[in-house]
Amino acid sequence: MRVRFAPSPTGHLHVGNARTALFNWLLARGHGGTFILRIEDTDLERSTRESEQRILDDLRWMGLQWDEGVECGGDTGPYRQTERFDIYRAHTERLLASGAAYHCFCSEEALEADRRAQLAAGVPPRYSGTCRTLPADEVARRLGAGQTPVVRLRVPAHREVHFDDEVRGRVTFHTDVIGDPVLVRSDGVPAYNYAVVIDDHLMHVTHVIRGEDHISNTPRQVLIYEAFGWTPPAFAHLSLVLGPDHAPLSKRHGATSVAEFRQKGYLPEALVNYLALIGWSPRRLPDGGISEQTEPSSDELVPAAEMARRFRLSDVSHSAGVFDEQKLAWVNRHYLKGCEPERLVREALPFLRQAGLVTGLLSDAADAWLREVLPPTVASVDRLSQIPDRLTTIFHMTADAVFNTPALTDELTAPAARSVALALARLLDTTGPLETREQFRALATQVRDATGQKGKALFHPIRVVLTGAAEGPELDLLVPAIDRAAVLPADAGLSPVVSCRSRAFAIAERLTRHSA
Ligand code: GLU
Repeated sequence: MRVRFAPSPTGHLHVGNARTALFNWLLARGHGGTFILRIEDTDLERSTRESEQRILDDLRWMGLQWDEGVECGGDTGPYRQTERFDIYRAHTERLLASGAAYHCFCSEEALEADRRAQLAAGVPPRYSGTCRTLPADEVARRLGAGQTPVVRLRVPAHREVHFDDEVRGRVTFHTDVIGDPVLVRSDGVPAYNYAVVIDDHLMHVTHVIRGEDHISNTPRQVLIYEAFGWTPPAFAHLSLVLGPDHAPLSKRHGATSVAEFRQKGYLPEALVNYLALIGWSPRRLPDGGISEQTEPSSDELVPAAEMARRFRLSDVSHSAGVFDEQKLAWVNRHYLKGCEPERLVREALPFLRQAGLVTGLLSDAADAWLREVLPPTVASVDRLSQIPDRLTTIFHMTADAVFNTPALTDELTAPAARSVALALARLLDTTGPLETREQFRALATQVRDATGQKGKALFHPIRVVLTGAAEGPELDLLVPAIDRAAVLPADAGLSPVVSCRSRAFAIAERLTRHSA
């Protein structure tokens, strides 16, 4: 089995195309097949190397490594269409010689006039066939005179042609609705339908799996296979990915590219797992209509290798699938929770840097600190990008912010809480940093003994004083995390963290002023 993903490098990798790549990859990996990556860059104005590079990066990020193709090479290259023009030219000579294709000299104006006349007469516009029967000597004369024709396929009249789509079943069409398509433009650039057939054939592709937006191209491609006397591969056209309003997923729905989801803080394995669930399921999917995502179910959380083992084209739904970011977030939470601490630090790092919480090269101690702090933090996030916000109490607490918040000011200025806050500051003056849960607990006990407050009346003011917030993670975890970060040297790579002692002092100072 040989499959291929054939992106045009004219922009970002859309999640719909990423899903096409994924289904190809799953099929190849599940069947010991070969996954080919071919770059279709014949649109010379719109194709760029930057876009190609981004697509390659996105595929690698998703873990969809190809076996043959650009960068890694292979026996059936080159794998960039602009490097294959000699191959296309040689094949065009063959079709012209056999009469399966012909030169067409019709001007744009003449074609446009024909088109308008056909529309006016209420018939679907197609090439009228003016040059189909030009005598060979006339063709030679015009070529000799320097005219630059296009090359068209001579489509046989009155024929029924069909192909068996692996997802949608038999597709039949009539050649009389197809005008002779252009194979090669007058500037020598091959049309998509033409290059794709030559490439798929010469690359020994056995299964063409692509988006359903190409289904109207396939009849033309089947005719081109016929013209060469080649057997077409199997075809499978995947339904489109839709937005919540059932229109194809586009910019106006929000993020659409793999890069955007990456920047939003989704893990690659979560995006991969989720994309596979659009139109396919490790469980069998009911067919018909638009497949809205069903309630998330843990038996859908399947790593890529296992999905590959279970993946069958015959199980892919032909109904369109709706992209549901809530469900993606649910899948992401699952993979975030399963992340080893080292990996979590690595994945969160770009987001921590962007938020200014990581400022340089991390020392071993700072790295160890993050490995402890991040796992409990991700328990309450959907995405990596939300992590910095969850660390606000550690990095950004100030006494000013507390006293600018009326509810917190009211709480701390009440006599009982005030006594807790002041005792906390006094006792912290004589103890070392609270680097362990035991040290924190011992101090809390001293504050209790000094003030007679206990339970919520003790711990809530302590929380406000040390974290600047009325709620948050367990103090037993948070307080030691604050003081362990506060003792890190300035060159540890983390943004500086104010110690519990300094926090309590600043609050006590404000409270004393407040009552004065
Ligand atoms: N270059 C085409 C695209 O990006 C590929 C279509 C195909 O797979 O045949 O849509």
